[in-house]
Amino acid sequence: MPQSPPAAGWPGVGPQLAGRLAKLDIRRPEDLVLHLPLRYEDETRLTAIAAARPGFPAQVEGEVVACEVVLRPRRQLVARVQDDSGILVARWLNFYPSQQKQMAVGQRVRLFGEVRGGFFGDEMVHPRVRPVAAGEGLPQALTPVYPTTAGLGQATLRKLIDRALATVRLDELLPADACAVLGLPGFAEAVRALHHPAPDADPAALECREHPAWRRIKLEELLVQQLSLRRAYNARRARGAVALAARGQLTAALRAQLPFRLTGAQARAAAEIAADLAASHPMQRLLQGDVGSGKTIVAALAMLQAVENGYQAALMAPTEILAEQHWRKLAGWLAPLGLEVAWLSGSRRKREREAELERLRSGELQLAVGTHALIEDPVTLPRLALAVVDEQHRFGVRQRLALREKGADGLRPHMLMMSATPIPRTLAMTHYADLDVSVLDELPPGRTPILTKLVSDGRREEVIARVHAACRTGRQAYWVCPLIEESEALQLQTAVETFEALSAALSGLRVGLVHGRLKADEKSATMAAFAAGELDVLVATTVIEVGVDVPNASLMVIEHAERFGLAQLHQLRGRVGRGSAESVCILIYAQPLSQTGRERLKVIYENTDGFVIAREDLRIRGPGEFVGARQSGLPLLRYADLEADAALIEPARALAERLLAESPVLAERLLARWLGGREALLRA
Ligand code: ADP
Ligand code: MG
Repeated sequence: MPQSPPAAGWPGVGPQLAGRLAKLDIRRPEDLVLHLPLRYEDETRLTAIAAARPGFPAQVEGEVVACEVVLRPRRQLVARVQDDSGILVARWLNFYPSQQKQMAVGQRVRLFGEVRGGFFGDEMVHPRVRPVAAGEGLPQALTPVYPTTAGLGQATLRKLIDRALATVRLDELLPADACAVLGLPGFAEAVRALHHPAPDADPAALECREHPAWRRIKLEELLVQQLSLRRAYNARRARGAVALAARGQLTAALRAQLPFRLTGAQARAAAEIAADLAASHPMQRLLQGDVGSGKTIVAALAMLQAVENGYQAALMAPTEILAEQHWRKLAGWLAPLGLEVAWLSGSRRKREREAELERLRSGELQLAVGTHALIEDPVTLPRLALAVVDEQHRFGVRQRLALREKGADGLRPHMLMMSATPIPRTLAMTHYADLDVSVLDELPPGRTPILTKLVSDGRREEVIARVHAACRTGRQAYWVCPLIEESEALQLQTAVETFEALSAALSGLRVGLVHGRLKADEKSATMAAFAAGELDVLVATTVIEVGVDVPNASLMVIEHAERFGLAQLHQLRGRVGRGSAESVCILIYAQPLSQTGRERLKVIYENTDGFVIAREDLRIRGPGEFVGARQSGLPLLRYADLEADAALIEPARALAERLLAESPVLAERLLARWLGGREALLRA
């Protein structure tokens, strides 16, 4: 038997209503208290029908003079309401019999909605209706409008919320001085003010959520997020891991034979990681660095620290291409030290792979690079002490968890996560507060800046000529096909067509094609040919997005650049400018450009710093993109906004530290108030 929804059994709440409440994540009376209005409507005034301005919300009151179900141009309920000044049509395209009854001729009603000119004259479509008696008083304060779901009306929600406000304990859980310092009200006062605004409350401040009551709630929400992240962090620190002393034999040998010196940022990050690895609890560190900042060598040094201690280390990458690149790079660096690196990917022949696996199992090999194939077999890496995950946001929570369960001696492996998606500070503080972070904020020397050009698609021929010219002088070029999110098939077709068209237009040049549907070994053969200079132009879908490193490629063309996300464009552009040659990135856009499209291309045109781009991206689009798979494990912010409320994040963080140290009981109660039983999810 299906479990009955939690709210079933509350006074007046049957299973159906309880089910709808559950859809809104309302399972306890406490959840109703925190189910805050989406917006407010001003029903304190009446507008004469004749005076209602099109396009603005208004409330009118009158008598229903007609009401019928009309079948043309489509089935709908059409009513006419009259006051002293005129007649207004009210129209419903979907309606319940109860609505029809509400609009019975002769009934006095208040309608709230937006007036506009329509087929039947001035009208309100789907207005809110309140039957009233003649002369009934108007509300004194703004009316809250709650987020809801089909079949659950505002009036019902309001009634339930009011009851919860009267029965749930609205205890103050923040230290008394904390809110005073920020000039914010207490919890009870704040939730009451939001559910029942005072008659003199500033409507604008309520609407844009800047009212002190809103800020108080947002502070508490951010605080709870910090608490749960800190708690997850502490819980992980309480687990055991193999302590890997920084012995230095292998790491020093690697550093000595590198053709370059580490940048200051790399040295710093390497030292932070080395110290973490030496501890007997698992490292949880994010290594953040813009494309080309040199994360791989930092990972390699960490991996050697595991080997120095007689343990194994693995590096997992999200794509075959990337895994292969990492493998080549590591194998090249480590061969002089007499170390072999296993490469596990779907593209290797079964027999070869089996042989590699066996050598890892037996402990003959200590290092492995691969895709998630690496973690599929639990006995592959019996002495795993460090797992490195590149482009960590591209893996699902489940995959990362699987990796974590694989530590040697029943202990958890140290985890180093790498990301080239720069995370704006506010986002890092709110979504990655459970990780330690090292940042590579410095590019290796000798890079030439990339020149970015914006070209409309009418000038494609010129771009082709430019590719031709560049390749004739021995350079190589990427040509990235448009992203077609709706259809993989269409995306594939476009890639093939582009490849054919360019092959024809660029006579004398060697053109290759990679896309997501190629078999792994075909893909890697093409990539290898491009890396070896056997191809001049590589036509690609976004499979080259991450990590590809071909220093001789100095020209990047991206078609339909307006369809890509800013972070993605930045990543793609980062594929060039890796060698000493002057590099160019040409963004071809289709006209007409939308306002946002224009704004975004301007950001990418004007900026090369990944952090600046990410901040702008966050501003234009919100945090979804950055957070990716992590979202599933995080308490989402319902009220606080990372940009608008950036100023509250720091106080929330400080408060979290303080509560955990001084009043863990309050911290628990806050978590319970906001998350109820849902916190288990966050452990991931
Ligand atoms: P990413 O951070 O994007 O993964 P990589 O690790 O692929 O960057 O490094 C980009 C390129 O820079 C590689 O060719 C790498 O060998 C080179 N590199 C890394 N560190 C340095 C350095 N300190 N000096 C010069 N080149 C470096
Ligand atoms: Mg990389």
